Amino acid sequence: MNKNKELNNLIHKFPLILQMIEPTNVLWINPNLNKNLRNDVSITFDEVIEAEERLKRFAPFIELAFPETKNSKGIIESDLKEIHEMKKFMEGVGGITIPGKIMQKCDYALPISGSIKARGGIYEVLKHAEKLAIEHGLLSIDENYAKLFTEEMKHFYSKYKIAVGSTGNLGLSIGIMGASLGFKVTVHMSQDAKEWKKKLLRSKGVEVIEYENDYSLAVEEGRKQAANDPMCHFVDDENSKDLFAGYAVSSLRVKEQLQEQNIAVDEEHPLFVYLPCGVGGGPGGVAYGLKEIYGSHVHIFFGEPIQSPCMLLGMMTGLHDEISVNDIGLTNITEADGLAVGRPSKFVGKLMEEILSGCYTVEDKFLFKSLRAMYEQEHIFMEPSAHAGVYGPIILLSKGSKYLSDNNLNYKMQNATHLIWSTGGNMVPEEQRQYYLSKEIEN
Ligand SMILES: *Cc1c(COP(=O)(O)O)cnc(C)c1O
Repeated sequence: MNKNKELNNLIHKFPLILQMIEPTNVLWINPNLNKNLRNDVSITFDEVIEAEERLKRFAPFIELAFPETKNSKGIIESDLKEIHEMKKFMEGVGGITIPGKIMQKCDYALPISGSIKARGGIYEVLKHAEKLAIEHGLLSIDENYAKLFTEEMKHFYSKYKIAVGSTGNLGLSIGIMGASLGFKVTVHMSQDAKEWKKKLLRSKGVEVIEYENDYSLAVEEGRKQAANDPMCHFVDDENSKDLFAGYAVSSLRVKEQLQEQNIAVDEEHPLFVYLPCGVGGGPGGVAYGLKEIYGSHVHIFFGEPIQSPCMLLGMMTGLHDEISVNDIGLTNITEADGLAVGRPSKFVGKLMEEILSGCYTVEDKFLFKSLRAMYEQEHIFMEPSAHAGVYGPIILLSKGSKYLSDNNLNYKMQNATHLIWSTGGNMVPEEQRQYYLSKEIEN
C-alpha cells in the first residue's frame, strides 16, 4: 500500500500523530487504564518476589566483588529523596505551580553500573550464573554465595558466553557483572552508544561489536549470532522476563522507602511516577511492580524524546513493535542515548495496556536545561536520558487537566507525591559531563 495513504489513515484514527510529527511535546492518556484486560498476563508478582530473594542470596558475592556495595551489604539500591530546588526550576519552566512534593528516585547513583540497568541487567546475569552453577553441582541455594568469588568459579564460567544488544547502559551492566563472574561477554552496540562506554567495556575484556545502525538492528544481530551457539545466553532486551522481574524489584524497595519517610500513598494521597522510556523493559518493570502494590492510587507516566516516542506510538495504535517512529516520519535521533529506540517491546507494551496512565514526549532542549539546573541547584549529575522524567509533572499539570478531573484527583493534588525516576548518570566520565553542561541551548 501507498506509504502516504497508510500514514494518512493512521493520522485520521489518531490525530495526536499530527502534533507528534510537528513535532511538539505531547501528552497521551491511555484509554485502557484499569480496564482489567488481563490479556494473558505473562508474568506474576511471585516472580518479582523470587527475584528479590535471589538478589539477597547473591548479596555476599556482590559485596566481595564490588566493595562500593559494602555499606548496603551487597544490595544494589538507590536513595529516594525530595528535590526542593528542582521544584522551583520546574515551576519556572512550566509557568505553573506544582502542588504536592517532588521526590526523586536516585537510580543515577545505583552502584556498579550507575543506571537503572543495574537492576534488570545485573539480575539476569546473576540468575543465569546461579542456574549454571546449580546444574553442575557447584552451588546450592542455601550456601553462602561468596564462594562464587573464587578463581575456580571464574574458570567454570569462562566456558560460557553472554550476549546482549544495547544502546549502551544495558551493555555496561551486563558486561561489568558478566566479566566479574568470569563469563565471556559480547555486547552488540547501536550507533547511539557513546565511545566511552565501548572503551570502558573493552577495558574489562568485553567484546564490543559496533553497528552503523539503530538499536533494533543491534539486538537482532545479537540474537541471531547467539542462537547459533549453545554455550551462549542472549539477554533479550525486547522480550526478557528476567530483566523485567529484576527491574520490578525496585517497587518493593520503594514501598519500604516511602514508609520509612512517612509518605502516605492511599485514596487521599496519590502517587505520580514519571519514568524515562526506551524499549520499555526498565520503566515497564517498575510500573508493573508499583501497580501491583498501589493499584489505583498510583499514576504512572512514561517520558520519551520527541523524536523517539516508540512506546507512545505502539500503545496508542495498538501496533506495538509493528510500527516504528520512522513510519510516521520521525528520526529517532536524540542526545538521550538510552532512549533512542524506534520500536518498543511488544511484551511490555501489552502488559502496560491496563497499567500505564499515559506517555508524553519531551524535547532534547529541555533535557539539557534540566541537566544544568539539576547540577547547579541540587549538585546532582544525571545523563540526558534521565531528565525525561523531570518533564513529567510539568506536562501533566499543564496538559493533563482532563486526566486529573476524570480520575477525581483535583482536590487531592495538594497531598500528591510526584516521583521522578532518575535513570542514569554516575558512570558518565568527567569530560563528557563538561560537554553536556556547557552545551549551547537555543532560545
Ligand atoms: C535504558 C535506559 C532507560 C529506559 O529503559 P528501557 O528499558 O530501554 O525502556 C532510561 N534511562 C536510561 C539512562 C537508560 O539507560
